[in-house]
Amino acid sequence: MAAQPTAAKLRAASPAGAGRAPAPRPGILDIAAYVPGKSALPGTGPIVKLSSNETPLGPSPKALEAFHGEAPKLARYPDGSARLLREALAAQHNLDAARIVCGTGSDELLNLLAVAYLGPGDEAIYSEHGFLVYKIAILARGATPVVAPETNHTADVDAILARVTPATRMVFLANPNNPTGTYLPISEVQRLHAGLPSDVMLVLDAAYAEYVLADDYEAGAAFASAHENVVMTRTFSKIYGLASLRLGWAYCPNAIADTLNRIRGPFNVTGPSIAAGVAAVQDRGHVEAAIAHNEAWLGRTAEELERLGLATTPSAANFLLVHFPDTSGRTALEADEFLLQRRIILRRVEAYGFPNALRMTIGTEEENAAALDALRGFMSAS
Ligand SMILES: *Cc1c(COP(=O)(O)O)cnc(C)c1O
Repeated sequence: MAAQPTAAKLRAASPAGAGRAPAPRPGILDIAAYVPGKSALPGTGPIVKLSSNETPLGPSPKALEAFHGEAPKLARYPDGSARLLREALAAQHNLDAARIVCGTGSDELLNLLAVAYLGPGDEAIYSEHGFLVYKIAILARGATPVVAPETNHTADVDAILARVTPATRMVFLANPNNPTGTYLPISEVQRLHAGLPSDVMLVLDAAYAEYVLADDYEAGAAFASAHENVVMTRTFSKIYGLASLRLGWAYCPNAIADTLNRIRGPFNVTGPSIAAGVAAVQDRGHVEAAIAHNEAWLGRTAEELERLGLATTPSAANFLLVHFPDTSGRTALEADEFLLQRRIILRRVEAYGFPNALRMTIGTEEENAAALDALRGFMSAS
């Protein structure tokens, strides 16, 4: 990693009064900015957007109603403790509301954990194809990202444990992971935790937990309840269909909740977010419908893709990592261009170490069919 000049060195090197620009702290310029999935295209006409793992069902109508109900109150600051939302989450998940910290998306909570627990000289581990927000959060603190190789596109507990050093402060695990969709059973998470020193924090990012139907999976709430060094993060951006609201939460040991509450913005969650979040959590029918929709389409879509000669990584979430055969001369890049011309947006994943794959979110029946039809056309085009 290239050493960045510090602000003090820059100042010493340049004469007083010369035009010096503010310099970011070391490490910051090593960050490759996160590139979100495309959401717009030139021209007009409907777009099939399957690039950001959003739910095709949209938010609960009750959440929308609650959101609108906040409109007359926008002049007032919200409840900085987000008490009603923490209580709704605690009731739903059978947790202690005092140990829940809400944030502006789980991204904010992941970053706050890094702010509070990482600095220069510290190491934090994530897996080879892990969610890129971790790397950004680690580098932003001037800490050192350590990448553990995966096995079969799945986090490898032994590989992670082999990379723990006296400098290790955190391990980030997306379970299931994005963009692979693979997950670790709770027994493997337990084995990972058992191998970590007690002062290393294990962050379990369970953004897709609701979609996982496997019996051997747990998001980690019970686990976070039982250990002083485990945090579980969750989001309203995926199954709840509230990505634009920017709402997430973390379940923490008391000491970590206390730490996050000292450094978070005092009003980091908005009034409309609190109201919509409470209604969304309480509308179990809407969540069940989203789970059923995904169950109906995930496997079927994977089968259709296989029929086209496109392998997929087994996914426990609401998306599929679609691999283009190395020998076919039909690359993910060409497929992406072909699909974009037809106003279908999938997610490029080369930044995640998959130069010849695309990630496809499970959409509506019509959206899935449109993407499959276009991919059929692409694979059969000469
Ligand atoms: C989408 C996603 C999130 C959610 O981030 P928000 O900031 O809550 O929108 C977190 N982790 C992973 C792995 C994700 O894919």
